[in-house]
Amino acid sequence: MMADKSAAAAPEKPAVVQKIIAVGSGKGGVGKSTVATNLAVALARSGRKVGLVDADIYGPSQARLLGTEGQKPVAHDNRLVPVASQWGVPVLSMAHLSDPGQAIAWRGPMASGAVTQLLEGHWDDAEILVVDLPPGTGDIQLTMLQKFKPAGAVIVSTPQDLALMDATRAAELFAKGGVPVIGVVENMAGYICPHCGEVSDPFGAGGAEAAARTMDTAFLGRIPLDIAIRREGDAGTPTAAGEGPQAEAFAALARSIAD
Ligand code: ADP
Repeated sequence: MMADKSAAAAPEKPAVVQKIIAVGSGKGGVGKSTVATNLAVALARSGRKVGLVDADIYGPSQARLLGTEGQKPVAHDNRLVPVASQWGVPVLSMAHLSDPGQAIAWRGPMASGAVTQLLEGHWDDAEILVVDLPPGTGDIQLTMLQKFKPAGAVIVSTPQDLALMDATRAAELFAKGGVPVIGVVENMAGYICPHCGEVSDPFGAGGAEAAARTMDTAFLGRIPLDIAIRREGDAGTPTAAGEGPQAEAFAALARSIAD
């Protein structure tokens, strides 16, 4: 049989990023970056082609969380090529473009320009691009949301009142940017004592679920405050890449978002 020459000669059409999922929070330190990393790794484990953009320009942590510190992305056709990680999640972060510990003191337009460069990298293979947003509700977030139109946003909050109030504000920001909120994740919900295994609630319990109801959005689940999550994050070996109940919690989160 003769090969169809016209089909063979046609250049392969690059797959485009189908979905950007923005991960945001009302305030810093609630575990937004940790959830973004583990969500991306869990999605990759479930067979999705995933990329991760660290849009947290002033406090980039994805290079460390994915164990890619010290790697420098190359540019191809004036676009950055994402850095490969061992977890099947390529990543781009300002941490790959600056020296370790270097303070990034840019005004809004420069920071927006940097976020644009990261998002306009060679993501053609990614089916889902998880974007770790800066905390809060500033201009950079709004510009980014309006310019790149994520398919949806996930809000990370602790069960604490203050974090929840801020989370509600973050939800309003997404609404303003025309981005649907997929739901709320309650992080640091229940402390598991590493010695006796007893669970206590240093930041309260159930608040994020109630807030999700108020915001008329889905409650996507609970991730406990577990010292192993912190340790594994610092070591660049994401919890979601391992086994056990916390890895399963992130896998469940990935299913609730991508199914
Ligand atoms: P954010 O991106 O909201 O600023 P991070 O993801 O950087 O927050 O998390 C802040 C700190 O809390 C980090 O040291 C991280 O390892 C830790 N952390 C986040 N989530 C958990 C968790 N569920 N259990 C234990 N430590 C956590």
